[in-house]
Amino acid sequence: MSSNCVKCGGPHASSDCKKEREDEPKCFNCSQKHPANYQGCAAFVAAKQALLNRTRPTTNILTTKPAPPFPPLQTLPQTTTYSQILKNP
Ligand SMILES: [Zn+2]
Ligand SMILES: [Zn+2]
Repeated sequence: MSSNCVKCGGPHASSDCKKEREDEPKCFNCSQKHPANYQGCAAFVAAKQALLNRTRPTTNILTTKPAPPFPPLQTLPQTTTYSQILKNP
């Protein structure tokens, strides 16, 4: 086992940890004051989110047809403009 201690992040098993229980735990994932197995850990949440993103059904790029070219903008009908109104009061 090469996993670090969940209590202090040290290179030893959690059961071998010499850290006092009263001491604040230190997460070796995000260095915050919580055990490394804390599920509210930012690193844990990020990893979980990454997993969700990976398993989420995504658009199959291979079968996706290229989007049709954008239709040309319709030319606006020539209507009376303000400038024309000003010219012909
Ligand atoms: Zn430890
Ligand atoms: Zn953490």
